[in-house]
Amino acid sequence: MFLVYYQGVQNTVKGKMRQARFISSSPHYRSLPVSAGKEVAFAGRSNAGKSSVLNTITGRRALAKISSSPGKTRHINLFGLDEQAVLRLADLPGYGYAKVNVKEQKRWGEELTRYVMERESLCGVVIVVDIRRSLTENDRRMLTLCRTAGRPVHVLLNKADKLKKSMLFRTVRDMEKELAFLAPGASMSSFSALKKTGLPEFYEVLGRWLQLL
Ligand code: GDP
Repeated sequence: MFLVYYQGVQNTVKGKMRQARFISSSPHYRSLPVSAGKEVAFAGRSNAGKSSVLNTITGRRALAKISSSPGKTRHINLFGLDEQAVLRLADLPGYGYAKVNVKEQKRWGEELTRYVMERESLCGVVIVVDIRRSLTENDRRMLTLCRTAGRPVHVLLNKADKLKKSMLFRTVRDMEKELAFLAPGASMSSFSALKKTGLPEFYEVLGRWLQLL
């Protein structure tokens, strides 16, 4: 019985994600389309695999173009999940790219802050992290910002395929402890955009946030 329900949930979320289509690319917060409905945002350090994660969950190989040069996309890209785009995914610019000058980094920090604080439809923020690296200063800032704004957060530990099982368990456990201290209430799971592992757990988070369940 539970298994049937669980598979139903998975299929519902998967089906919605598969409908993803590009809506807009906005260089500034103020130029974003109106904020009705529900939006899940994806943040993370450049090269953590944010584009690959978006492509994997939507089943589209090039929905969010995988950047050959990290940090290339500095726009907020929106993807609609239904005809009216009432449900959306937002691909936020990868942060912490060294080649972007300080002024541009500051400007983007301000844009992201505004987005997280003010975007009415924002129902959750996914922070994509490379599981082999520790949280960056910007990841921590994003966690704090979400906490201040009262936004639910999920830390997605991507590239799990790069770790052996024993190391994976240890890393997940350490991250759990760190998050409990830094951002109580934030959830986390391991994932591999490459091997497509961790999809069910992540679909459940997305389904809950977008109220598909
Ligand atoms: P973004 O800058 O965060 O959007 O990162 P990309 O999606 O462009 O990915 C950066 C690099 O990491 C690319 O070479 C991807 O092929 C690789 N990558 C992304 N996800 C995974 C994963 O789950 N496993 C492995 N092994 N590589 C990945």
